Amino acid sequence: MKSHRKELWFNIPTRRGFVNITPQVETCLHESGILEGLILVSAMHITASVFINDDESGLHQDYEKWLEKLAPHEPVSQYRHNDTGEDNADAHMKRQIMGREVVVAVTDGKLDFGPWEQIFYGEFDGRRRKRVLVKVIGE
Ligand code: ZN
Repeated sequence: MKSHRKELWFNIPTRRGFVNITPQVETCLHESGILEGLILVSAMHITASVFINDDESGLHQDYEKWLEKLAPHEPVSQYRHNDTGEDNADAHMKRQIMGREVVVAVTDGKLDFGPWEQIFYGEFDGRRRKRVLVKVIGE
């Protein structure tokens, strides 16, 4: 069995944002030379997510609105986590809902997606450098 590990770095200039990282993940897969196996893509920070869904801007605006309803950023004083002097309790919760990682089957050297599936990085407390782990295993 072969394995290949890579870290992707992001620095989202705003507090929140979604980025389609499918091309970067495909590059990792091609570098690995693996044709059959699994690929794990995982956010290494507890205020960011990796998830799979449609690349559609309306949907991303809907996520933004929905997540702000569930865990509004303001007022920051509503969260006990922020008593520590941080202001990102909402970002921890948004990460919990949107997920930590995805696993995609690798078939014939390609990501074995459904018709509209794409991989996204979800940032909930940006304006700093953060990493995503990509691990490919197989042969
Ligand atoms: Zn925090």
